[in-house]
Amino acid sequence: MKVAVSACLWGERCRYDGTAREYERVKQHLEGCEVVLFCPEAPVLGTPRERISVVLKEGDAPCVIGDESGRDVTALLQEQTRQLIETHPDLDAAILKSKSPSCGMGTTPMVDGNGILVGYGNGIAATMLREHYPEIDIVDETMV
Ligand code: SF4
Repeated sequence: MKVAVSACLWGERCRYDGTAREYERVKQHLEGCEVVLFCPEAPVLGTPRERISVVLKEGDAPCVIGDESGRDVTALLQEQTRQLIETHPDLDAAILKSKSPSCGMGTTPMVDGNGILVGYGNGIAATMLREHYPEIDIVDETMV
C-alpha cells in the first residue's frame, strides 16, 4: 500500500505557525505501508507563514487567499499537488489533515469575500486528489 500523508500529521513542523500535529495513531495504522509525506504549503509559502483561507466568490472556483496580504496562492498550491499526482500516480490511499485550507476533507472552513464563514468543504489539494483518484480512500486523521 502506498499512502500519501499530510506531513504535519507525521511530525513535520510545516504548519503555518511552525508546529506539527503528530498523530501516533496514523503511524500505527500505516505500519508496513509505503508513506509519501506531502505538504503543499510549506515548499512554496515557507514556514512560518500567514494564515490562508478558502474563499468562495459567486460564479468563481474556490480560491485560497492570504488572510493578511490578500495574495492569491491557489495556483501555487495546485502546482504542488499536481507534482504529487505526477510523481505518484499509483497512490492507494491518503490520510490528510482536517480543517486545513489545503488538506481538509469536508472540514475546511469556507469564507466569502468579506471573510464571513459560509460553510465547510474540501481544501484545494484534497479537491484535486479526490478528482484525480476517484477510487481510493481519502480520509482525515479523525477517521483513522
Ligand atoms: S495541513 Fe497540509 S498544508 Fe497544512 S501543514 Fe499539514 S500538510 Fe501542510
